[in-house]
Amino acid sequence: MHSNVSDLLKIKANKLPNREAIYDEKRRMTYGQLDHEVTKLAQGLKNSGVKSGDRVAVALINSIEFVTSFFAIARVGAVLIPLNPFFSKGECSYLVQQTGAKALLCGEVSFYSELREEIESLEMLISVGFQAEEYLYYDDLLVGNEFEDIRVEPKDNLFTIMFTSGTTGHPKGAMLTHENVLFSSASASKVMECTEDDVFLIPNPMFHIMGITFLLRAIFCGGKLVVMRKYSVTGALALIESEKVTVHPGVPTMFILELNSSDFEKYDLSSLRTGEMAAAPCPVEVVKQIRTDMNCNVLIAYGSTETSATLTLTGFDADDKARSETVGRPIPGVKLKVVDENRQECGVGEVGELACKGPGVTKGYYNMPLETAQAIDQEGWFYTGDMATIDENGYVRIVGRKKEMIIKGGFNIYPRELEEALHQHPAILEAAVIGLPDAIFGELTYACVVLREGETSNEEELLAFMKERFVKYKIPDKFLILDELPVTSSGKISKLKLKEELNKHNQ
Ligand code: ATP
Repeated sequence: MHSNVSDLLKIKANKLPNREAIYDEKRRMTYGQLDHEVTKLAQGLKNSGVKSGDRVAVALINSIEFVTSFFAIARVGAVLIPLNPFFSKGECSYLVQQTGAKALLCGEVSFYSELREEIESLEMLISVGFQAEEYLYYDDLLVGNEFEDIRVEPKDNLFTIMFTSGTTGHPKGAMLTHENVLFSSASASKVMECTEDDVFLIPNPMFHIMGITFLLRAIFCGGKLVVMRKYSVTGALALIESEKVTVHPGVPTMFILELNSSDFEKYDLSSLRTGEMAAAPCPVEVVKQIRTDMNCNVLIAYGSTETSATLTLTGFDADDKARSETVGRPIPGVKLKVVDENRQECGVGEVGELACKGPGVTKGYYNMPLETAQAIDQEGWFYTGDMATIDENGYVRIVGRKKEMIIKGGFNIYPRELEEALHQHPAILEAAVIGLPDAIFGELTYACVVLREGETSNEEELLAFMKERFVKYKIPDKFLILDELPVTSSGKISKLKLKEELNKHNQ
């Protein structure tokens, strides 16, 4: 195991100096060049006053500069605060203030200079790709050729405070140490059998844990990163062909859109060896389609920001059923259990909340002692808030989120089960099921669907489709055919936004 995030890159650069490390659709760099720029930036940050333990926010799109900042911040022993570069002033201001960030590396957005005046802790703005008066310029910080390492304790020192997606509520800042993020990426990389020959597409934003884990996985095995500055379906397909991508991670929506794109047939995707679908429920039909139409041996992963990404992964040894219907088994080093409402362990195959333990699990939520105490017990078990079963072979099935469970007239309904069924309907491209308040039943079930291009359907037909498959109480009360479903910044369907929109509509 590497001792810290900065060493991971340094060791690879010494071993493979001329290996291409990264292409970001603008620039290419070898491992040697990447490490060199990181060293210069670390020196520049130190000269500007960034010290060990300081928080440094990074609001950049996926790019080489994100990656150099990522490693340079680790090299000076500071704490990375990745922020969505498209955040509004309010969102950005809240997180910079919360974390007491001292510096912000950013692109050209007008309100950043106001933040510096308004937030006391924020001493410096570092501009990437543009020059302006009150900013330090990234290129000017690239000085010196050596940097004396700052000692970092992998188990104790924070590498990042990473905010959750906010799928169900306001984002929470998970404190992740160097050991947390390195463990999870190294362990998952082994299960994926990653090698120096692998070329990783990075379509996920790097301010989300999935982008970060794949960045680390690629460096861990000495592979190449193909960083998408902005995700687009044809952009992804074109890069797979031109850069001969072998590993394609993504959230389910990305795979769904790619497989159904009219451009799909135009590209040669034969370089794909494997992929990883994760971060949200992965419909069985889509898993099968990736394997047949993309000829990609895709794996399913499950995890969260709080667990430094991966907890489980379907390995190459899983049979077809396990590979499409489960999220796999715990990666080496992770322990899992399913518990009832009193946090007592459930029997094999019983539904309960999934809890986990292992070197990837967060130290807690930043500045949220109450939430931390609720989520992590005395023995270090983290309660995920996801309902699941574990079968006799250790395979985990995610039944749904505890928070998303709909209680209608006293019956528990898991949206996931209904969404899986809707995905089997030939006209449906995407589906999301939510509960909205009702004076009589407590909640009513709304099925929101987006249809495939050129397909038609209506409420009556969808109702008949679900009636064939489910007992009465599970049949959605309303079917809504929408043009699109709202998504979080990490690309997942946002049930929070969907609920807000429908509530507004119902008023
Ligand atoms: P918030 O906690 O702010 O509501 P979030 O939980 O979506 O946001 P993330 O850390 O990005 O933030 O997501 C983790 C969650 O994503 C898991 O707890 C789980 O509910 C869901 N998830 C991840 N992978 C899978 C998967 N393979 N299948 C089903 N759900 C998944």
